[in-house]
Amino acid sequence: MTPPKSQSRCVEAVVRPGHPFAPAAGTPPEIDRRFLSKHEKKESSMQFNDMPLAAPILRAVSECGYTAPTPVQARSIPEAIDGRDLLASAQTGTGKTAAFMLPVLQRLSTLRKGPKGAPRVLVLTPTRELAAQVTDATRNYGKYLRVRSTVILGGSPYGPQFRDLSRPIDLVVGTPGRLIDHLERGSLDLSRLEVLILDEADRMLDMGFKEDVEKITGAAPSDRQTLLFTATLDRTMASLARRLLNDPVRIDIAGKQITHDHIGQRLYVADDLGHKKRLLQHLVAAQELKRAIIFSATKRDADRLARELNAEGHRAAALHGDMNQGARNRTVRHLRSGRIRLLVATDVAARGLDVPAISHVINFDLPMAAEDYVHRIGRTGRAGASGSAISFAAGDDAIRLERIERYIGRQIDREQIDGLEPTRPLRSPRRNQGNRKKPGGYSRKFASRRKEPVIEYRKRKPKRAAAPKAR
Ligand code: AMP
Repeated sequence: MTPPKSQSRCVEAVVRPGHPFAPAAGTPPEIDRRFLSKHEKKESSMQFNDMPLAAPILRAVSECGYTAPTPVQARSIPEAIDGRDLLASAQTGTGKTAAFMLPVLQRLSTLRKGPKGAPRVLVLTPTRELAAQVTDATRNYGKYLRVRSTVILGGSPYGPQFRDLSRPIDLVVGTPGRLIDHLERGSLDLSRLEVLILDEADRMLDMGFKEDVEKITGAAPSDRQTLLFTATLDRTMASLARRLLNDPVRIDIAGKQITHDHIGQRLYVADDLGHKKRLLQHLVAAQELKRAIIFSATKRDADRLARELNAEGHRAAALHGDMNQGARNRTVRHLRSGRIRLLVATDVAARGLDVPAISHVINFDLPMAAEDYVHRIGRTGRAGASGSAISFAAGDDAIRLERIERYIGRQIDREQIDGLEPTRPLRSPRRNQGNRKKPGGYSRKFASRRKEPVIEYRKRKPKRAAAPKAR
């Protein structure tokens, strides 16, 4: 069955016929079942039709080409429709957007419109890219409903935002800074909020939005429903979750498997920058590299590398935080349409960016934080498709590499290209650490970070009914 053409990226994300993981001809596309544990397999036999979702939502989902819910969807949707708070650890690319958006749309489908500037649902995202993608997904899943939604982003003009917020609005998606701005100006009223969603909450904390998040949650009623999605759950996140959630259902999809098995991971040791560039030239010339995101450490490196790749005849562009929103959106559009083949990005693109058919992620520079490695490589292998993640390591990268491997719990396969072998090994992390760190410092640090924190929740006063009467 070929899904209708009208849907945009939700259709393209599924595994394509002919792909190594594609289902047999004639069967509908589905998420790679190797993801699933026994328990999850049982849940995954659940169909969207078994869920208490309205017909217009089921129709939109089916037109997206989704045949069965992913594990995070199978677990989250019924609980969220029941009105429960959720604390969900789900890897990037697991279908978490639909996991929170479908229950929210279900709620919005059964109730009347909210008052002016006072949304009933707020989705908080760390980045503008993610906000834009959540908005796209909302349009796809809610296309047969009359849901009024808007997106409130920093770096965008105020005019359309004031206009949208001066009308009755059901759902707002936004980044923390601009939302606070509207709260302070009085153009946004959260006093009637029914559902608050924190998407990639760990990223929000990493980006220093903790106070903003608390300000926003403080402006919302305490009997709201809160759905918190995070890729990692360290102590800081656990403590935020304890404060924001009321007796949540704990859903842990990420904890079982930090990196996707269907993403092949390789590492090339390089002598220096010039060597990295020669390795890159070799890799991007390969036919199997259809579309790639190349991660660089700095904005300036991203610009420079994109320029050099263009000069070599590749269709490449840079994406980083110094570009205005219009230019960023345009670049992502061009990557999606295939007009550009190589995107050279800083970590601004590491999360949230959902471009189907990214065959390769190349870490030209290794990320500082081990978690970012997982988020970066999650840009390929979306929705069960397979992908390749290639990393370069040079000079002092041994420490970062060790940190990443400890975090993902395995060694990344070392490979060499004929004629481009390194002339020296990576410098040992031990030698570089000198006396500054106690032996085993990293292991200790990461052991404590990977341990599941004990979370105790205080009961707040009873929640409003899951489906209150129309206002
Ligand atoms: P997300 O984790 O929400 O960014 O979703 C990752 C990708 O999976 C998106 O491209 C979705 O369109 C796709 N997706 C979400 N749910 C399903 C599903 N049940 N079946 C197939 N693809 C899905």
